[in-house]
Amino acid sequence: MARLVDEMEELRIGVFVCHCGTNIAGFLDPREVAEYAGTLPDVVFVKENLFSCSQSGVTEIQNAIKENQLNRVVVAACTPRTHEPTFRAACEDAGLNPFFFEFVNIREHCSWVHKGMAEEATHKAKDLVRMGVARARYLEPREPIVADVEPAALVIGGGVSGLTAALSLANRGIEVKLVEREEELGGMLRRIFRLYPSNIDAREFIARQVEAVEGHPRIEVFTCSTVEGLQGYIGNYRATISSQGVNKREVHVGVIIVATGAAQLDLGEVYGYDGKRVITLIELEERLRNGELGAKNVVMIKCVGARVPERLYCSRICCMTSIKNAILIKEKDPEARVHILYRDLMCYGVDNEALLRKAKESGVRFINYSLERPPIMENGRVRVHSDILGKEIGINADLVVLVTPMVSQDGVEELSRLLKVPLDGDRFFLEAHVKLRPLDFATDGIYVCGTAHWPASVSESIEQALGATARASTYLINKRVTVEPIFSMLLDEDLCRGCGLCASLCPYAAIEMVQTEKGIKAQMIAVACKGCGTCGASCYRRAIKMNHYTDEQLIAQVRAAFSG
Ligand code: SF4
Ligand code: SF4
Repeated sequence: MARLVDEMEELRIGVFVCHCGTNIAGFLDPREVAEYAGTLPDVVFVKENLFSCSQSGVTEIQNAIKENQLNRVVVAACTPRTHEPTFRAACEDAGLNPFFFEFVNIREHCSWVHKGMAEEATHKAKDLVRMGVARARYLEPREPIVADVEPAALVIGGGVSGLTAALSLANRGIEVKLVEREEELGGMLRRIFRLYPSNIDAREFIARQVEAVEGHPRIEVFTCSTVEGLQGYIGNYRATISSQGVNKREVHVGVIIVATGAAQLDLGEVYGYDGKRVITLIELEERLRNGELGAKNVVMIKCVGARVPERLYCSRICCMTSIKNAILIKEKDPEARVHILYRDLMCYGVDNEALLRKAKESGVRFINYSLERPPIMENGRVRVHSDILGKEIGINADLVVLVTPMVSQDGVEELSRLLKVPLDGDRFFLEAHVKLRPLDFATDGIYVCGTAHWPASVSESIEQALGATARASTYLINKRVTVEPIFSMLLDEDLCRGCGLCASLCPYAAIEMVQTEKGIKAQMIAVACKGCGTCGASCYRRAIKMNHYTDEQLIAQVRAAFSG
């Protein structure tokens, strides 16, 4: 059994119970919880805060630490996900090791889920605080891990987001390896005519980007290439780039940016697609660029293959792309008749709404249809039931444009496995947290931007690329990374049988099997480890210790749960 505290040290635990305005105090009784906390062993100080995370709340905690010589702090409040750094920093500023802090969540885990049950919620909050205090007694001081970062980046994908990311990093003095699987850089923008809402020529825009990348002294471009192997962790990745499937080269980089883009859904011969009278939106872009529309009566059918049972999501950019193209057609030939058949209109933002208005004013007709009654092609005409007019309409059509959604690229599963980063249900790359870490993966040092992540406009893709490179630059410029000292380690090398189970299960590739004098053993890479506990829970030899979540700490917590 580990010692509770240094033999000379007396445990002095402070407990702070937060009201979170009415988020907690509205559904349970914090006063009763605080009074109860004062009866727990080694608790020498208790205080209620209206908002513990506010400046005044933090100051109260810091003053209490100093004035009462507290050596453990328990805050019963909200979620560690957002506020743990605040309270750890408060402890540190008051001279206490930040890992002597224990967070008890009486909001998400209690008040919010037991609304209307104040008595029971108060009782549960007391249980949670008792458990937190029990664990706090076994906490140990810890120091952050600092590791070197190779000031170089691997950018995967040479479309607009990958090019933007590469240029942004290279202009900050970072060496960039840019890998593109096609022969040419530029991605989908090479096939687009004009961008919305700016009306910039897409091909000219992307050509300038490509020229800047190819001529940049700090960017090395690998076309016809893929990433075939990856080892390492933030600051220290070794990637194997395979060019033409033959030449292989290992590059050493500190971060990786995934910018693999997306593709347009190919539905085959739906609606009589023939590439002549029935074409896709991308083919329309090419015709507009070449000035070869060859039609007076154009009908665009939106949401073809999107927002249907097999593909529920909205692709977000096709509405504006079709509206932009409708305006271009009318500008070239005001006599042309353009109909847009839609289920919903996704025209978010002031600029996009202005374009929608412009399309309507220039005579583009919008007809709403429903999923249950899709348009029907019939002898050079399109029949559609307008849900708003409540009747069927026949429209002459020399050219039908199928507006299909963006879908994820081929090969994303392999890349996801290689990088050990997840995909969502639609096979787009999934960020660590939709609001708090929208450009990060859960694995540190790997970022995502552009349509690899989700259908996005060109301007959104550029913004995301700049955001991802800003995130990555914090490590690349400082050339070091500081990570939380919560990681797993071998408790006893002799216990490890070298079976490799832990290494195969670790979701962050943080365990290597290495040859030692005592045979093959697991070796944890502290800087890559997220402290998730998977390895510790799976090792049948109990050879792995979880720092900051030791057996003693967790057993004390569980015992406290049943000792109320
Ligand atoms: Fe060693 Fe346990 Fe990992 Fe097997 S699971 S390699 S015994 S630490
Ligand atoms: Fe991997 Fe999780 Fe074990 Fe760390 S704690 S080595 S992240 S399985």
